[in-house]
Amino acid sequence: MMLNVEKLAADLYEKSVECPVCQSKFKELAVKISSQRILKKDSDLQIYYKSTNPYFYDVWICNSCGYAALKVDFPNIKSYQKDSVLKNITPRWKERSYGTLYNENIAIERYKLALLTSMIIEGKNSTKALILLKIAWMYRLLESDEEEISYLNQSLKAFTKAYEVEDIPFYGMDRYTVMYLIGELHRRNGNNIEALKWFGQVITSTSAPHRIKELARDQKDTIKNTY
Ligand SMILES: [Zn+2]
Repeated sequence: MMLNVEKLAADLYEKSVECPVCQSKFKELAVKISSQRILKKDSDLQIYYKSTNPYFYDVWICNSCGYAALKVDFPNIKSYQKDSVLKNITPRWKERSYGTLYNENIAIERYKLALLTSMIIEGKNSTKALILLKIAWMYRLLESDEEEISYLNQSLKAFTKAYEVEDIPFYGMDRYTVMYLIGELHRRNGNNIEALKWFGQVITSTSAPHRIKELARDQKDTIKNTY
């Protein structure tokens, strides 16, 4: 037991963060990049790691004002959005503590706080889509099928909106990866006809990367083989 705890702790380090909303300084935990070895990937792009799961540490939260966001987005908040946090989140915020060894349930709570912030500050659809997807992934790890599907469905809606109105790439995903992912989320939601449309667009595109075309072909075959 002891060994396990020490091993997990060795994966982590503390990062100093300054809140862009209230300027308070605090520490967040992160998983060392050097220890993040990939075991496998799900067809909707969830990655499994040999080390501590970096998704558990993906959200940063300021305990002073309650601002929460994905760590990649944390510094990028516009001034009208800061006002919105201070007006709508801070007065109701209660400080919380999560210890150092996060798990799926803690991650879900933290992702939901980031989702709440992004809804209150009217963040981008792609931001909501990614947070919703990651919440679904956490429920998958917990084998909570109903919640997983519900969040995948909400994520699909947000990704579809993002695809229509936002500049792509976002979050390291190019246009074809987003198209593939929308197709795969349709498939996982049982909408095979819609899924095949999106996979077809990726497969027939002249500029989609080979890697994404392969994924789309595999998932198209998965649908065909179900009948
Ligand atoms: Zn703050």
